[in-house]
Amino acid sequence: MGYYLVPPVYRPPSEASSLILQITLGCSHNACSFCVAYKGKKFRVKTWQEIEADIDAAKEYYQFATRVFLADGNAMVADTSLLLKVLEKLHRDFPYLERVGIYARAGDLLDKTPEDLRKLSEAGISLVYYGLESGSDRILKTIHKGVTIAQVIEGGRKAMAAGLPLSVTFIIGLGGPDLSEEHAKETAAAASAINPAYLSALTMFIPDGSFMDRKIKRGEFKLLTPEQTLKELKILLENVSLEGCVFRSNHASNYLPLKGVLNQDRDKMLAQIERALVNPHLLRPEFLRGL
Ligand code: SF4
Repeated sequence: MGYYLVPPVYRPPSEASSLILQITLGCSHNACSFCVAYKGKKFRVKTWQEIEADIDAAKEYYQFATRVFLADGNAMVADTSLLLKVLEKLHRDFPYLERVGIYARAGDLLDKTPEDLRKLSEAGISLVYYGLESGSDRILKTIHKGVTIAQVIEGGRKAMAAGLPLSVTFIIGLGGPDLSEEHAKETAAAASAINPAYLSALTMFIPDGSFMDRKIKRGEFKLLTPEQTLKELKILLENVSLEGCVFRSNHASNYLPLKGVLNQDRDKMLAQIERALVNPHLLRPEFLRGL
């Protein structure tokens, strides 16, 4: 049997050239109100025999792979023993392998012991993608994230302490205009508490048919205007405190692509936001925004 993936498949933009290996199918939570990614996919962890066969098939085509991304939604939910077996085989079968990335939810990291996480780091997990979404408990509850901000921070800090670098994302506009300031300030506080290796902004983009889409159509939620998204990001950057964290807002959903290292490039990025606020033609046009 050849190398194949069970659709739909999602991966972070920075894993565009990675070999994708599905450890799980779907997302174990599958309930966030803004997400339709795996709505039609029944969640399960694949068996070792299935994964082993996938790796054997993939190495026929990708023997020079340097990067592997472990999918789907939150592959970190799989047992540590299974993940360690996968990492061992990947490093044996792909001699040029340099980086292995994976998606994780807070509960996945909290369910593992510090020793488990250290072993995964030593076995080659080199980047963990982690959706913070918002630092506000009120917003996390509204979007059905299924975790508290205290759990998100604890899980993130536990991974970083075990040597697993985190790439954390948050979503501009997730609280709408009413909770914009709370969202910005509390997300800044949560990101500062985790102090991840990477921090990335996405901007709220509502997929048709999502729970959030229906709320907007019923008039129960409002999206931010482009100007409001910039103001929200400005408050966040003013309040965050990080050391050597690479910040990006270059995802296609954002109106203004920014890139810098926090805190050192904070003033430069704030100046770019100020410039865009008085020159709206600098913003990415609506028709070019997407996911
Ligand atoms: S945890 Fe991630 S993949 Fe799962 S429903 Fe929420 S946003 Fe979607």
